Amino acid sequence: MATASQPVRPDLLSMFPEELLRYVREELQEPGYRAKQIFTALQRGCLPSEMSTLPLSLRDRLEKQTTTPFPLIEQRYQSRFDGTVKYLWTLQDGENVESVFMRYRHGNTLCVSTQAGCRMGCAFCASTLGGRVRDLEASEILGQVIMAQKDLYQTEGENPNNRISGIVLMGIGEPLDNYENVIRFLRLVNNPDGLNIGYRHISLSTCGLVDGILRLSDEDLPITLSVSLHASSDELRSEIMPVNRKWGISSLLQASRAYFEKTGRRVSFEYALIAGKNDTKEEADRLCAVLRRELGTAMPIHVNLIPVNPIRESSFSATDLVQTERFAAALKEHGINATVRRTLGADINASCGQLRNRIHQEKVVSPNSMGDGRPEHYRKESSE
Ligand code: SAH
Repeated sequence: MATASQPVRPDLLSMFPEELLRYVREELQEPGYRAKQIFTALQRGCLPSEMSTLPLSLRDRLEKQTTTPFPLIEQRYQSRFDGTVKYLWTLQDGENVESVFMRYRHGNTLCVSTQAGCRMGCAFCASTLGGRVRDLEASEILGQVIMAQKDLYQTEGENPNNRISGIVLMGIGEPLDNYENVIRFLRLVNNPDGLNIGYRHISLSTCGLVDGILRLSDEDLPITLSVSLHASSDELRSEIMPVNRKWGISSLLQASRAYFEKTGRRVSFEYALIAGKNDTKEEADRLCAVLRRELGTAMPIHVNLIPVNPIRESSFSATDLVQTERFAAALKEHGINATVRRTLGADINASCGQLRNRIHQEKVVSPNSMGDGRPEHYRKESSE
């Protein structure tokens, strides 16, 4: 928190190139070309002190007057099976969030967090257990991608094989509950002078904030929308996803349809199969009926089935493979495209939220352990 004696230092990593240019010219009184040098260096994960293209005096001023809140790797787990890497990050205020790097045939994807905690209250989700602590800044979301990419190039080799080419906003948090910062992040990560990740390779997942979906459809960002549905009746959905009490299934599907009609982009529906809860043949039939009724026939419909990942704090268990296949077959019978999501990183507990909870339980943070946040944060990194 800033006080009168400790003014807020501008966050360079959240700035668009044109904002950085203005800052460099007007606040720092430096020539404009410095802005491009700073932007490029930041996108590679360089701290001001490491920006070798800048004169020492400018590096020093940037260090003192600005902030570059890259997350620090607190823990890193790598799957022996499929190359999945899970990162637990520490942010400057000591908060922790997670990202997961996954290798697919069509490219490498990073799953990023958008909030520290979550306030949506889904009954099966580990990320929401302690509520929402705070929103992440655009820089803290972008920083996950920059630092994961830096780590992957360092550990696996700097070649196209190890490039992050896609993003899913499916980590901790509800992206549409941190709307402005998420949109800023999307535009930054797509910047051609930055990581240049194509919008078509980005998916945003939401538990169903209808106002956010409608707003997103007007942003002119051709990303894929992923809607976490998980039930076909309002009764069951409201029981496991409190957000449904505000926006029921019908209005959620109408918003999804509007998104498709406005953007021409695919919408996919996530459906976590919970044994004995939402995985029966009747439920599958009802799901098809409701999707068809609300979405019509012109819109392609894709359902992603995911056996629920059981968390300690809830009694839900995963539907077995046979029933999962039956559920998928029932959808296909109705002409609805369904895939069963491949589980990656099974040996490293790669789904989000659980590491953060564990470290929160274990960690006794002494008030001074982070200092003012920043210097301590980076000392830890360089000593690793
Ligand atoms: N808040 C957003 C994005 C983060 S959650 C959303 O709700 O979509 C990403 C996905 O993981 C969502 O589909 C969510 O419902 C799902 N999910 C959460 N906990 C899960 C669990 N224990 N097992 C399987 N999927 C889970």
